[in-house]
Amino acid sequence: MRILVCPGDGIGPEIIAASIDVLGKADQIFDLGLQYDYEDIGFASLEKHGTTLRPEVLEKAPTYDGLILGTVSHADYPAPEKGGRNVSAAFRCELDLYANVRPSRTRPFLTSNMREGKSMDLVIMREATEGFYPDRNMALGWGEMMPSKDMALSVRKITRHCSERIARRAFELAMKRKKKVTAIHKANSFHMTDGLFLECVRNVAREFPEVELNDLLVDASTAHLVRSPEKFDVLVATNFYGDIISDLAAELSGSLGLGGSVMAGDDLCCAQAQHGSAPDIQNQDKANPTSMILSVSMLMRWIGEHRQKPNFIAAADAIDKAVDAVLANPETRTADLGGKMGCKAFGLKVAEAIQKG
Ligand code: NAD
Repeated sequence: MRILVCPGDGIGPEIIAASIDVLGKADQIFDLGLQYDYEDIGFASLEKHGTTLRPEVLEKAPTYDGLILGTVSHADYPAPEKGGRNVSAAFRCELDLYANVRPSRTRPFLTSNMREGKSMDLVIMREATEGFYPDRNMALGWGEMMPSKDMALSVRKITRHCSERIARRAFELAMKRKKKVTAIHKANSFHMTDGLFLECVRNVAREFPEVELNDLLVDASTAHLVRSPEKFDVLVATNFYGDIISDLAAELSGSLGLGGSVMAGDDLCCAQAQHGSAPDIQNQDKANPTSMILSVSMLMRWIGEHRQKPNFIAAADAIDKAVDAVLANPETRTADLGGKMGCKAFGLKVAEAIQKG
């Protein structure tokens, strides 16, 4: 099982190192046979190669069994013509990793940012290859433009193909969970783009009669997430809305550092934390690596399910349990959760807690 690891910017290298410590232990116990190759991306690549992402990295990525991508400081990159390529976007679009799967759940032993007595266990299925992002919606050129210096325009691309396939993934996931899908949209204003998305979700819903479908306007969905998070199971959303509501859900669950995430295509999957590169805490051993560790666990589960490898599914279950066991103890929490434990030590604690069965 060959895994390509790209540490990235900001806290990326720290949370990836902690996750690899966890994977190393899981590999020993569950005999995963993992081999890692490393490639620079982001500023490390820019310094060496003049670009944040070499085409060779993307070319070789599909030859691997799985990808692990660190966080990227995209906001600080130079313009694309000066080598500042958005790495996450390139992975998603060029490798067609269209399903950004982002679970968020509360843990009874951890203080959440929700109203007292509220709990949550949901997954956001976010389309990742089109939408409002200007680097993802044009075959040539850029989806934002300024006809004059006082006027800016933005183009949003929504297609039937991408909307139907993300909806299908959402319903398939709901079939394994509580059989509820909520489509997030703003079709009252964006009649054509969100209208098409909603039409596609409704069409796909007919293939899954056991799953209950409802829909919410994106603005109202934020209020519902705060007021009654327990009502949600799987939320399906276009790219931009999915990005925003998943940060809200992760923070509601306790911290942005808690939610795992993968970007999955039909034949390839990439683990990437839900949060950004947190430059404010980089190189201070303060980052919470939970999101990255859980993302890596999701990748192991994806490999297990897609390659019929039960030991990978068992490893994912064991990593998830170990994370909960470590988070349950206030002494072994990171600073964002009010604890004193560093990123490296947290990873080692999780590794230590992994058990068979
Ligand atoms: P951010 O998610 O990096 O940070 C927001 C806040 O949450 C910060 O205070 C940060 O310290 C904290 N935080 C985030 N992750 C944490 C963790 N694991 N442990 C503890 N605290 C954590 O968002 P930002 O500051 O707006 O963006 C920083 C950079 O990240 C920007 O360049 C942005 O473009 C980029 N970004 C990258 C990704 C990605 O790599 N997938 C996603 C979003 C933003």
